[in-house]
Amino acid sequence: MNDLYLLFSDYLSSDEIIDDSSKVDSLLRDKRSRFYGRADIVLQPSSVASVQTIVKLCNQYAISITPQGGNTGLCGGAVPDGGVLLSMSRLNRIVNISPADNSITVEAGVTLYQVQQAAISVGRFFPLSLASEGSCQIGGNIACNAGGINVLRYGTMRALVLGLEVVLPNGEIVSHLSPLYKNTTGLDIQQLFIGSEGTLGIITAATLKLFYQPLETQTLWASFNNIEQCIELFHFLQKHSSGRLKSFELIGKNALLISSNDLQQAPPIIDSQDNWHILCELEKSISIDSLPESLYENGFRNIVFAQNEMQSKQWWCLRENISEAQKRYGVSIKHDIAVPIGQLSDFICKNSQRLQELYPESKLVVFGHLGDGSLHYNVFLSNALGNEIYQYENAINQLVYQDVFAHDGTCAAEHGIGLLKRNWLCNMKTEQELSLMRAIKHQLDPNNIMNPNKVYP
Ligand SMILES: Cc1cc2nc3c(=O)[nH]c(=O)nc-3n(C[C@H](O)[C@H](O)[C@H](O)COP(=O)(O)OP(=O)(O)OC[C@H]3O[C@@H](n4cnc5c(N)ncnc54)[C@H](O)[C@@H]3O)c2cc1C
Repeated sequence: MNDLYLLFSDYLSSDEIIDDSSKVDSLLRDKRSRFYGRADIVLQPSSVASVQTIVKLCNQYAISITPQGGNTGLCGGAVPDGGVLLSMSRLNRIVNISPADNSITVEAGVTLYQVQQAAISVGRFFPLSLASEGSCQIGGNIACNAGGINVLRYGTMRALVLGLEVVLPNGEIVSHLSPLYKNTTGLDIQQLFIGSEGTLGIITAATLKLFYQPLETQTLWASFNNIEQCIELFHFLQKHSSGRLKSFELIGKNALLISSNDLQQAPPIIDSQDNWHILCELEKSISIDSLPESLYENGFRNIVFAQNEMQSKQWWCLRENISEAQKRYGVSIKHDIAVPIGQLSDFICKNSQRLQELYPESKLVVFGHLGDGSLHYNVFLSNALGNEIYQYENAINQLVYQDVFAHDGTCAAEHGIGLLKRNWLCNMKTEQELSLMRAIKHQLDPNNIMNPNKVYP
């Protein structure tokens, strides 16, 4: 029994310390057995509190920590060289799944496959897809900013993360598990941890984006003599699929041969001249031709379709002109907010009612990007259509933002913080996030020469 065992056993339950030598052995070796490490102790915390305890003790006694997810990384990143090997496998709960917000919140040790299946169970789709998906974990996927076959259409893991929870090297927790799709409240701290490969902290949970399952996908196989032709096909498909090209995989002749031999399965195209094969997938959405019937069948009645380009442009002009038209109408108190889509209706209903009660002369002008939950939410007062409205600004902001925050929203969806909203920042970032932002700012700009007094409260 070593010193570390004595230290940690005072704080952790016995099942959070792995001492089964065969299990330890498999965790010390990477997937390909390319690397074999050593650890003074292997811990498997079952709660975030345990992770914090471990990290605090390690910080106090200068003990190194190697976080490990599914151990499918191919660079030896999860293989320890002494100290604590921290297996995240027991933090494996699906915390929340919200089809209304198109989001799922999971602990870091949930496997990618489990997330994919949970999404399917509510009629959604989680697009990250890797051959290692049965074993790799969400924490590992984030720590490595994993890619996979659907990046073309959905981006890497970085593009799929909405919120993160991380235990910092000092044991503090930074938790921002928000389903917001937009939030321009200063620095996006979580981006620091995506792709940080366990060097900045322990990822303990994440909120991820979900999508609708594609109605139909079309798989295509092609073979070519040279790569240029493959690239031509790529551009052709991109041009004609309006962004619905999901994957475009290149398979060299030898790779194909090895695989087809192994599977005893003939390739779709056999041509000895061709050195390169392409396997790609396109998502089909609802066919434009059948859209009117589909909408009608699904209960949407009051809908018209633009009959030509001219008509479509005219309709778009109506949308684009709102800002200019507002300017001519008068001065308003403007808000650039985002609220999770699932809470948007409740927010508007409650807040407009409260505004009306307190300011019966108010007129609310709301427009914006409903699809990503962000709105321009502007309040006019019919008895104060000039600059005199600004005497009410603080009170109106208070009224609007209180409800925005109560609905898990942000007051800076698109336009940032600047001077205008810096005093509201502490309502949207935790104290830990704010102090990290300050520390990073201080680190990079100790004399505060860059745009001082902006953003930071
Ligand atoms: C067959 C196969 C196919 C693959 N295909 C792809 C592919 O197409 N695209 C791709 O991107 N990758 C691919 N990979 C690599 C690998 O699966 C990914 O990098 C995956 O994201 C690693 O996840 P993991 O849970 O196994 O992480 P691990 O291997 O356990 O760890 C990887 C790194 O992340 C750190 N880490 C793990 N969990 C945490 C955490 N909770 N907090 C902080 N740091 C943590 C570790 O310290 C280590 O540095 C493939 C691997 C295999 C074996």
